[in-house]
Amino acid sequence: MNQKGLTEKEVLALLNNALQKDTSYEKVLSAMCTRPHPIAVKAHMQFIASNMGDFGLFTGTRELEEKVIRMMGGMLGDRNACGYITTGGTESNIQALRTARNLSKKRHPNVVVPDSAHFSFDKIANLLGIEIRKASLDSEFKVEMDSVNALIDDNTIALVGIAGSTEFGQVDPIGRLAEVALSNNLFLHVDAAFGGFVIPFLDKKYDFDFSIKGVTSITSDPHKMGLSTIPAGGLLFREKACLLPLEIDTPYLTIRAQHSLTGTRSGAAVAAAYAVMMHLGSEGYREIVGRCMKMTRRLVSGAEEFGVEPLIEPVMNIVALDVPDLDGVRKKLRQKGWSTSITRNPRAMRLIIMPHLSEEALELFISDLGECLR
Ligand SMILES: *Cc1c(COP(=O)(O)O)cnc(C)c1O
Repeated sequence: MNQKGLTEKEVLALLNNALQKDTSYEKVLSAMCTRPHPIAVKAHMQFIASNMGDFGLFTGTRELEEKVIRMMGGMLGDRNACGYITTGGTESNIQALRTARNLSKKRHPNVVVPDSAHFSFDKIANLLGIEIRKASLDSEFKVEMDSVNALIDDNTIALVGIAGSTEFGQVDPIGRLAEVALSNNLFLHVDAAFGGFVIPFLDKKYDFDFSIKGVTSITSDPHKMGLSTIPAGGLLFREKACLLPLEIDTPYLTIRAQHSLTGTRSGAAVAAAYAVMMHLGSEGYREIVGRCMKMTRRLVSGAEEFGVEPLIEPVMNIVALDVPDLDGVRKKLRQKGWSTSITRNPRAMRLIIMPHLSEEALELFISDLGECLR
């Protein structure tokens, strides 16, 4: 550190230099995050000093958090669901399975997840000492129930279903997973980190939330399709009792106990999520999701004109394209400024049509893709 501080102008210039090196979202087709809604940014700045780790001092922000959780519960099939705003899908998944583990008291617990599960479950295996068993997928990348059943044994504590898989945007058969969970007395966690702010606003209906008996917890992230600021994840439980195994005493705070994984945590993220949800309402989200889906269909038809097919008909605004010479084509697209990503198995080009993408940018991408395929 310098002994003498720089002027504000000098510091801002340094920040600006750094920002120039960051990729702006215009040509990003690889990210599940997006530019936050302007009202979320305003709310974030207004609440920048509030700490939900000690919410006894920030009772106004705490009320906003309760309202956000109630709104999310309403979106996810149970207005009375409880939970809190986390730092994202990873923390929500960790906390959900930590609850399952702490309630089960098994010495060598295992959890059955679909092979399409996000890598946060590999962190969970390492952190929580839970064996993660990966069930195989069917030809449409949904978890195969026979495989799930075969992996369950006396040490299984929970099943995980994905509603909006990270790579394919696919929705697992949550209803069938719930039947198996209920008959084996298992926790069922639904990872809707991405899909939580998409599926409720699609024209087609999918059963994936608390309206299904047997679903015990859901991850849904405001900082992805919720258009909130980073870091905002959501963890919801059907039963208040599920928060208790996460509690620890906090003797030197204004509150008695804390159930979050992090200590100090952002009140700004809470205010931002509240602001954007209140401002958009379900009509606003439906419009945004509708636009992303329309553009997704346009991308698929554009790719099909070049003889490139999607691996599945997109369920949400995520497309996996079966592109020949994948690495070569992605490299050429990169030279034209496009960020794309891949699916692992099978390998394909993974594209996410987030709200930051303009119609013009999409048309440009389609024509650049055509050029790179030649
Ligand atoms: C993005 C994602 C996560 C992880 O969320 P973070 O906010 O990056 O921690 C977990 N599960 C699914 C299905 C996701 O798409």
